[in-house]
Amino acid sequence: MGETRMVSRIEELHAVHDAAKRDALITGMAEHGWTGRPLLAYDDGNGYHALTGSHRAAAAIALDIEIPVYLIDISAHVWTDEGACEACGGAGEDCWVTMMVDARDDDERLEAIERSGDQEAISLMQAEIEACDGKEAA
Ligand SMILES: [Zn+2]
Repeated sequence: MGETRMVSRIEELHAVHDAAKRDALITGMAEHGWTGRPLLAYDDGNGYHALTGSHRAAAAIALDIEIPVYLIDISAHVWTDEGACEACGGAGEDCWVTMMVDARDDDERLEAIERSGDQEAISLMQAEIEACDGKEAA
């Protein structure tokens, strides 16, 4: 299934919208390095794309600290000339990778990732949602 690795470059899910939160993370990371769970990400062949942790990624990049990521495996999802995913057997929302990439919020991302059957990825996404609800620094 997926794999965990360290990366120095990653495309963040969204821009920093809470500069104070990023700055607090920079302060913490400067002292302790990366702590806590890895980011959830995928590799589309052109680079890593984060699905969680935009503020943590921004802080790590600002400090030039390597980022632990869990890469969900999307390599089997290739599209036929007709636009159908070979792994999922259909087009558009029939493919969980398409759903995951196009998701508008964490709940939609979780719904897509649950269809992957990758328990590690599902756990990371669930932890992210719980952390956001609980206002833990994420
Ligand atoms: Zn697919």
